[in-house]
Amino acid sequence: MLANGRQLLAIPGPSVMPDRVLNAMHRPAPNIYTGELHEMTHSLIPDLRKIARTRHQATIYIANGHGAWEAALSNVLSRGDTVLVLATGRFCIGWGEMARGIGAKVETIDFGTQDDIDLDKVAKALTADTARRIKAVLAVHVDTSTSIKNDIAGLRKTMDRVGHPALLMADCIASMGCDPFEMDEWGVDVTVSASQKGLMTPPGLGFVWFNDKAEAAREGANCVTGYWDWKPRVRPTSYHQYFDGTAPTHHLYGLRAALDMILEEGLANVWARHHALARAIWAACEAWGKGGVVRLNVDDPAKRGNSVTSIFAGNGAGDLLRDWTERSAGVTLGIGLGREPAQDYFRIGHMGHVNAHMVLGTLATIQAGLTALDIPHGPGALAAATNVIAEAVARA
Ligand SMILES: *Cc1c(COP(=O)(O)O)cnc(C)c1O
Repeated sequence: MLANGRQLLAIPGPSVMPDRVLNAMHRPAPNIYTGELHEMTHSLIPDLRKIARTRHQATIYIANGHGAWEAALSNVLSRGDTVLVLATGRFCIGWGEMARGIGAKVETIDFGTQDDIDLDKVAKALTADTARRIKAVLAVHVDTSTSIKNDIAGLRKTMDRVGHPALLMADCIASMGCDPFEMDEWGVDVTVSASQKGLMTPPGLGFVWFNDKAEAAREGANCVTGYWDWKPRVRPTSYHQYFDGTAPTHHLYGLRAALDMILEEGLANVWARHHALARAIWAACEAWGKGGVVRLNVDDPAKRGNSVTSIFAGNGAGDLLRDWTERSAGVTLGIGLGREPAQDYFRIGHMGHVNAHMVLGTLATIQAGLTALDIPHGPGALAAATNVIAEAVARA
């Protein structure tokens, strides 16, 4: 009834596409054989390195995150290798299923859906692997289903402490350009991301970054197939090797604009913006929880991602609320995922092209929905959120 006006997609990907990205894509098809497209594509690689904070290799695949997952795995694994999956929600389990699909053996440690990776348990599992069958440790930086953030730097320290030689592979699909991530400093061997979340570009580009250790693993790996092979992509002798065929021309123009936006704002400022907006959301949820059923899925703020928040609303209220906010106010929230019963949960996506008024509008809309639907909740959420925003601006 009050939904006409600009709709807001507040789901954890695809995220809001900036007009600057959309306008960059609104153009005739370019010449793919020579000229400006080639120069523009070359310029993307160093900037992709900058946002993953690595001096190593960056590759672009025409794929969503699932494609980038498979690309990463297939370049470093051989059939029968074991991977250790550290599950804190739906996504690492999915990555493990993909590893099984290409012929790996999968060992999973499940940390549940409300807490991050327990590094002591990882140390035990790696120490027990005396035959060194585990070739890669798979971890998700921010699991989009549960909104748990994992300590990737701590994971590397744990692997080093027990002297295990496995590769450390990180899924940064929901965290790249949202949460601080330092591929080289943290010692990540392979990093995976995709275009449609913090990177503000339509779904369809997958990214894999890898270091020298991963490149060496590629030499012995027999899972790789022609299309996913990263070797020709990082040292192309002709332009078409970047993508093994026709370039994703319009996506590349969109990505160029998105990377320009991130680098103009400054990556550290982009992370800080996401953190302040996330804290406003958490403050609102904590107020709703006082005297009500609404609560954040993750208790410890240090273990929450900056880009997505999973919230329990009880008794089918997640679905009811999503329906209400979309139909009545033009705000689309994310479905419950990775928690049961899913209809009791909803998620807010706050990744990429998001600012204070978008987050405050989303929170106020949720407030209206909670009231309209008689979902029990405590008072003061909007005051708490606006205080966080005011303080964050004052401190900046
Ligand atoms: C979105 C997401 C994926 C899957 O990406 P698709 O593009 O949907 O294939 C994997 N991992 C994480 C952490 C994600 O957020």
